[in-house]
Amino acid sequence: MPTGTDFLSSPIEYLKGVGPTKGELLKQEFGIHTFRDLLHDFPFRYIDKTKFHKIRDIHPQMDTVQVKGSFSHLEEVTTGKRKRLVGLFRDDTGAIEVVWFQGIRWIREFVRVNQRHVLYGKVNVFQKRISLVHPEVELEATAEARPNLSPVYRSTEKLNSRGLDSKGRRKLMSMLLQQIKPGDLPENLSQYLIERLKFEDRFTTMKHIHFPPDQEALNRARNRIKFEELFFMQMALLRTRKKRRLSIRGAVFEKVGAAFLEFYEKQLPFQLTDAQKRVVKEIRADLGSGKQMNRLLQGDVGSGKTVVAVMTCLLAIDNGYQACVMAPTEILAQQHFRSFVDYLEPIGIQVGFLSGSVKGKMRKDVLGRLETGELHIMIGTHALIEPKVKFQNLGLSIIDEQHRFGVAQRAKLWRKGTVTPPHVLVMTATPIPRTLAMTLYGDLDVSVIDELPPGRKLIKTLHRREANRMQVVKFMKTQIAAGRQVYVIYPLIEESEKLDLQNLQDGYEELLSYFPKPEYQIGVVHGRMSSEEKDHEMQRFVDRKTQILVSTTVIEVGVDVPNATVMIIENAERFGLSQLHQLRGRVGRGGNQSWCILMTNYALSKQGKERIRMMVQSTNGFEIAEADLRMRGPGEVIGTRQSGTLNFRLVNLAEDTRILQTARAIAERIMDRDPWLEDPKHDPIRKYLAASSIYGKDWSRIS
Ligand code: ADP
Ligand code: MG
Repeated sequence: MPTGTDFLSSPIEYLKGVGPTKGELLKQEFGIHTFRDLLHDFPFRYIDKTKFHKIRDIHPQMDTVQVKGSFSHLEEVTTGKRKRLVGLFRDDTGAIEVVWFQGIRWIREFVRVNQRHVLYGKVNVFQKRISLVHPEVELEATAEARPNLSPVYRSTEKLNSRGLDSKGRRKLMSMLLQQIKPGDLPENLSQYLIERLKFEDRFTTMKHIHFPPDQEALNRARNRIKFEELFFMQMALLRTRKKRRLSIRGAVFEKVGAAFLEFYEKQLPFQLTDAQKRVVKEIRADLGSGKQMNRLLQGDVGSGKTVVAVMTCLLAIDNGYQACVMAPTEILAQQHFRSFVDYLEPIGIQVGFLSGSVKGKMRKDVLGRLETGELHIMIGTHALIEPKVKFQNLGLSIIDEQHRFGVAQRAKLWRKGTVTPPHVLVMTATPIPRTLAMTLYGDLDVSVIDELPPGRKLIKTLHRREANRMQVVKFMKTQIAAGRQVYVIYPLIEESEKLDLQNLQDGYEELLSYFPKPEYQIGVVHGRMSSEEKDHEMQRFVDRKTQILVSTTVIEVGVDVPNATVMIIENAERFGLSQLHQLRGRVGRGGNQSWCILMTNYALSKQGKERIRMMVQSTNGFEIAEADLRMRGPGEVIGTRQSGTLNFRLVNLAEDTRILQTARAIAERIMDRDPWLEDPKHDPIRKYLAASSIYGKDWSRIS
């Protein structure tokens, strides 16, 4: 938002009807400091005052109703110490009880029996009787003079008690809008865009978002505001990309050399899929271009991203550079380390490992070998971004991110390049929905592995309940007898680590009774174990010393044990969709038929049912990610609710796909044809961006 000494930057307490006390409250409760902040605090819904209900038609399942009529009766009733005001409100179809527990005096003064009123409120059901509790009351004449769609603003107890309930806030807003002049809201979009997209001007849009004359005007206002949110963000992302391309030279990896070829010809244990080949080609083109690569690699679970990462590292090494791979957890980092060592040690590539748990002499040693260039590849956790970690010649950073690293951390890895910033490849563990990718990674180029390696059998997903337990146990036994291995996963409830462990402990003991030692061996992994202990247990499972691995979700990411064919997820209803998909991806990694069994309670919420249904029906990670976004919203899907980039006022990434695509396409076109926004027709956009406190940094230089 542009700031300055203009009218909209006035402190909120200067608005008529606010003053110091209410001003302070607005700041505290909602961070509303200025007129502009208030203006941008949009209604969260609108009451359609054109619709009235007949009292006869009101039933318990209804949420809010609006009725027209009059009180035939109003009376204070006292039970014990508590007073309430009870009225009977009638229209020509019937009567309904109305109750107030607070503000009784005010109602008594304001409301007369047999006078025409309009009530608006929630349907309340108490002991099978329907009533309205604390409805909004207005004289019918006043209600009719109001616009049809009445805005509802957020409020809190504190604000309510100071007269800043939704109604009070409505008054403030109309006060503010009366004082604003079109010049206070200079146009921020080009005329040709406004026309093409059929928007109102900015000033009208603001008026309509608060007090829409009708639904059509509201839709238009909402569309424009959503478009603005997405468009300016895309402009900023694309500008970042452009700037990098223009100003940041990347190391040129033009050779495909000995290491790459030897690996490809001798070490690679399988044929690459067409998708893998295509992606490697895209990466090679980037690396040879002389520009810095910033690429996102997306692929479903098991699509074979690791080997692409390995080959990318080899391109760096063949051209005399080091590479690093950063993973979000210790287990995953170790897993990568092992795969890299298995693949690359035979051809003489030196791979090092670094995490918080590498200490003392070992740490010194590995850091030393990194700095002298003896190590070709360094794999680790975020310990890699610590200042003490110095490369001799870092040319490539691969970030396996599972949505957990932020842009800031990515940037830190960049700075590790000695001469030029390293090329960056970001890999996601499960697919992310397109709209999310476009916003979170909108500054990156995208490669997608949209094909699974051949010979994979589709994982069969089943939903079972406690009554099927013995059947499930029997099934586990047949699989184990056939030499296969089984995961059993328990949910992790963040609020109660103790309970989790209890869950896991109980489950483990129950399993012991079905799978007695020494015939069976069961391993346990959970978050409270040290990484050495976890590793030890994992390794035992990898080495087939245990047939069953009981675990909390620490196992979720990336673990690769192709011999495991059964994934049992206990209390599956407690997991998010992407997480379930990720867990399911732990099996089906070899040539054998695999199963995922979702165990749930009997009583499932609507959402829980929907998730289970989705899992049983689809094995496509892209599809599942979209569904997850629809059901849980973007914050949950990426696992960081506070993520600043996703703080939209109106946009909902699950729904506003079309607007996002339009905004992206238009932003791309503008950045292609007029990257510096020199064309006078782009003046409004340039000025707005330059004055913006969020995007300004990047644009002020050119304004
Ligand atoms: P993810 O994309 O989930 O990280 P991985 O890279 O761990 O997947 O690969 C999953 C499994 O598939 C591994 O066991 C790997 O060796 C195997 N794999 C990868 N690419 C191929 C391929 N082209 N053909 C056969 N198997 C492959
Ligand atoms: Mg992986």
